[in-house]
Formats: sequence, C-alpha cells, structure tokens
Amino acid sequence: MADIYNFCAGPAMLPAPVMRKAQQELLDWQGLGTSVMEVSHRGKHFIEMADKSERDLRTLLNIPSNYKVLFMHGGGRGQFAAVPLNMTKPGDQAAFVDTGVWSKKAVEEASRFIQTDVVASSYQDEQGLWHVPQQSVVEVADQAKYLHFCPNETIEGLEFNHCPQASNGAPVIADMSSTILSRPINVSDYGIIYAGAQKNIGPSGLAVAIVRDDLVGYARKETPAILNYQLTDEFDSMYNTPPTYSWYLAALVFEWLLEQGGVAAMAQRNEAKANILYDYIDQSDFYRSQVAKDSRSWMNVPFQLASDALNADFLVQSEAAGLRALKGHRIVGGMRASIYNAMPEQGVIALVDFMKEFERTHG
Ligand SMILES: *Cc1c(COP(=O)(O)O)cnc(C)c1O
Repeated sequence: MADIYNFCAGPAMLPAPVMRKAQQELLDWQGLGTSVMEVSHRGKHFIEMADKSERDLRTLLNIPSNYKVLFMHGGGRGQFAAVPLNMTKPGDQAAFVDTGVWSKKAVEEASRFIQTDVVASSYQDEQGLWHVPQQSVVEVADQAKYLHFCPNETIEGLEFNHCPQASNGAPVIADMSSTILSRPINVSDYGIIYAGAQKNIGPSGLAVAIVRDDLVGYARKETPAILNYQLTDEFDSMYNTPPTYSWYLAALVFEWLLEQGGVAAMAQRNEAKANILYDYIDQSDFYRSQVAKDSRSWMNVPFQLASDALNADFLVQSEAAGLRALKGHRIVGGMRASIYNAMPEQGVIALVDFMKEFERTHG
C-alpha cells in the first residue's frame, strides 16, 4: 500500500512513532501486564506518568510557575463554558474577537452565562482576502472581565501572529485548540490558554487549560465540579476519573515533541511545510487561497480550485492517491489541508505533487 497522509482537521493524525509506542505498550504498560487503560488513576504508575506529562508540557511551552496546568474533560467546547463560569458572576460582561466559526461558538456558549460583546472581527480587503484584526490593543468596555480570541481559526485558516491585549488590562483568554504547541508563545501574555486535544495534543475528549493562578478560585457556586478550575487544581486534575488513555497519549506526544527539539523546532518545520503549500497555491492560476498573507494559518490551509465543479473529482482522486480528508468545511467550501505538528513534510510534498498533476489534467 502506498503511503497514506491524513489531512483531517480533527481528530487529526498523531505522530507515527507515538502510535507505534502506544501499540507496543497496549497490552503491557510499564511491565504491569495490563494496559494503561486498565489501571487506577490513583496508582503510583499513572500518577508518575501524569506528573511527567505536566513537567514536559511546562518545558515545551516554558510555562511560568504562577500558571496552573489542568487536564480536563469536555474538549474545547467544555472550556467555552468553563471560562465564563470560572471568571464571572451573573450580569458580568466579557469582550470577544470574532474571526470565524470557533470564535462565534465560544461567544454563543458564553452568552448562556454573561453578556457578550464582540469588539473586533476579521475582515476582507479590496481583493476579497481575509485578515485577522491587526490592532495590538483591542478597545473593550471598562467592565469587560476578559478578552477572548481564537489564535487559529481551524475552519477559515486564519491565524494571528500576535496576542492582542485588552484596553482595560483584563486577562486575555485564548482558544488554542488548533495551534497549541505549533510554535513558541509567551504564556505570560495570556490569562488562560486552553485547547481541546484532538488537533495537536492527542485523542479527543481531553482538554488542557493553562490558567494564571490569580484567576483560580472565583468559580460560580453552580459551576459543575468537573469544569471548576480550583477543584481541578486541588485534585491534580483527578477530581473524577480523568480520560486516562487520552492523557497517556498526550504524554507520549509531549515526549515526542521534546525529542524533536521542542516547539521552536516544530515552528521551523511548520512554517516550511505551510510555505511549500502556499507558495505552490500562489504561483498557480488554478488554485487560490482566500486568506491574506499576514493572516495565513500554518496549521489549516483552505484552498479553492478554479471551479467548484471539479471538487468532487479532486476528492475522489486525492483519496485514491492516499491523501485523506481534504474536503473543506461546508462553510468555506473547496479543500482544506490540515498540517498539524504530526504531518511530515513528505505529506505536504505528496499533496503538492498531486495538485500539480490534477492542475495539469484539469487546468
Ligand atoms: C476543534 C476545535 C474546538 C472544539 O473542540 P471540541 O473538543 O470538539 O469541543 C474548539 N475550538 C477550536 C479552535 C477548534 O479547532
């Protein structure tokens, strides 16, 4: 069988060495004669693994000691509720940057609990290309409790190259589900960083929240215990049974990232991979990107063909060539190649080779 490259936006491919290690250890983890899935999360082996995973993540993102690292349930959307529940009282308001589908879903969920105020948005220029808002300080109401944004919009393929700050100094909250660990960040710019795991961390269900410690301890009384940052912290992310197998795979991914040279090395590779694809799209009259150069995602690359009538053919033929899951989200149309950390450069090269051949035969 030819090489298969999986461009799925999420759940996304995991690094091949991680999958092989998980396979090797599936029936016998750490010489216990059982799977990691089958042991107590309160046992010494699991706790050691959990502690190491936190240390590794702290090393990878250079997380300062005044930030809590929480492993939680409920994926990215769980955090859409956890953030307002932990940070506000009824009647409070918060500010949101809207750059696409996931930004809007975060607003929608927060609106159950607080007054939401969209204070900046993505926009199209004269050529019809999309940009993220460029201002480094976003005007928000004095009373806004936080400023929320999505550094990488998975569906539209829009990515920020900076972390906007709030004009009132309120904490900045970032949904990094599809960009965490893809490049170095300055954690201190943020009040809370959170991510659903299934793009760049591990299997779905798990969420990681990195929370500045002075923001912990203010959850509303009615906050479900499993979404409460303080309880999660007090119980070392084991208030109830954590998603143990997802956590284990996340730990293997962190180890793999450290072996690769950490997020600085990943950033170099990710930029190089993205450039291969964007450079080819830009020089082609057959394919186009609707995202302006200053706002292009390194992780999710949506692109359009010369005619939508060719989409179906492109998908059948790319699948046959071992290039999986390239169909764009219905909202954007066209194609989308998700090229997270785990996607090797050869995968992107194989995609570009296929695109060239498709252009030659259909252009
Ligand atoms: C995938 C994704 C989510 C949703 O994550 P779930 O785990 O499905 O809740 C949220 N935000 C962004 C940016 C995403 O890419």
